[in-house]
Amino acid sequence: MGFDVEKIRADFPILHRQVNNKPLVYLDNGASSQKPKVVVDAISNAYTNEYANVHRGLHYLSNLATDKYEAVRGTVAKFLNVADENQIILNSGTTEGINTVAYGWAMNVMQPGDEIILSVMEHHANIVPWQFLRERYGIKLTWVDIDDRGALDPQAIIDAIGPKTRLIAVTHMSNVLGSIVDVKSICSAASNRGLPVLVDGSQAAAHMPVNITDIGCDFYAITGHKLCGPSGSGAIFIDKDRMLEMRPFMGGGDMIREVHKDIVIYNDPPMMFEAGTPGIVQTIGFGVALDYMMSVGLHNIAAHENKLLSYALSGLQALEWLTLQGNATDRGAIFSFTMEGAAHAHDISTILDKKGIAVRAGQHCAGPLMDHLGINASCRASFAFYNTKQEVDALVDGLHLAKDLLG
Ligand code: PLP
Repeated sequence: MGFDVEKIRADFPILHRQVNNKPLVYLDNGASSQKPKVVVDAISNAYTNEYANVHRGLHYLSNLATDKYEAVRGTVAKFLNVADENQIILNSGTTEGINTVAYGWAMNVMQPGDEIILSVMEHHANIVPWQFLRERYGIKLTWVDIDDRGALDPQAIIDAIGPKTRLIAVTHMSNVLGSIVDVKSICSAASNRGLPVLVDGSQAAAHMPVNITDIGCDFYAITGHKLCGPSGSGAIFIDKDRMLEMRPFMGGGDMIREVHKDIVIYNDPPMMFEAGTPGIVQTIGFGVALDYMMSVGLHNIAAHENKLLSYALSGLQALEWLTLQGNATDRGAIFSFTMEGAAHAHDISTILDKKGIAVRAGQHCAGPLMDHLGINASCRASFAFYNTKQEVDALVDGLHLAKDLLG
């Protein structure tokens, strides 16, 4: 199917609203993406016509909801190119996915003094769970720097591997700099040493096709709300051999087969790692969102965003008073910037907001990266496949205005 951005935009009702009496220019996709009408309708339909709890009833609606919910496992597997859908755990998003690995896998196999390698450009979701393990169980964290362009050299990760390393946890795409990490090279070097790799795919999966079979990682986390799905949905791929090394960390209904006073028999994976009533409707909406993105075409999405990337880069680089953070060769259309002089990121974003332009300002849940860059905050404009060149122009105009007003 050809890619027609105006046709795509017609699928997203919110993109046609006004904000502050100006047409909305939504450039905060790194925080969360907008939802196409098919997803909103699927959520409404699920509650209106097809709602019941899953996995437990023998009645019609429960079976229907279970079938719809369970089908999402296959949809995620297809989206990520995973052959066996039983390697997909459905959850509430990346944060839960990484905590599942921290408590279910790392705590079960790691000993005090063992090490985890992280890059400095991780999101807090891929930092704080490991800091918990450091505080509580004596696990050590080894930090790897990025280079001057904001790129993470896979060799720097590989060079950091030592005799005590038990896990590498890296992002596939920085949520601040847009830098894409060559996770395949990291995984191949790590697997030669029997070392697992966790990839945080929260951003990458929204911008480019992800092929987990090709990447060869052990854990890959995604979050539904950045993929046109509802918040509170997501999934993590866990290699089946790693699943065998895990213990469930959340106990409750659904993850068990039998419970007696003195005995508990767990369900098989992946159910073993999905305790309690899940986000039923969120997950169903997530499946519809992934189907929608696949129908647009993941290669089409990447190609359109690459055009936006080049266009936005030349527009932003021409503003000599704007400092763009990072300029990795392999990158997506996520731009963080600061402005010469005293202009604070919050002031810039407030001025842009008055023009209907939504960007994010702050630390972007990436404290160690901010420390590394030596800044307190930045503005971030993050694009999605429904954005246009005209919206890049609107951003550049808005930044001129901010420069004029803030000096
Ligand atoms: N990792 C990255 C790179 C992110 O950008 C985000 C969200 O901003 C997360 C993890 C956390 O995702 P969630 O809050 O949906 O669990």
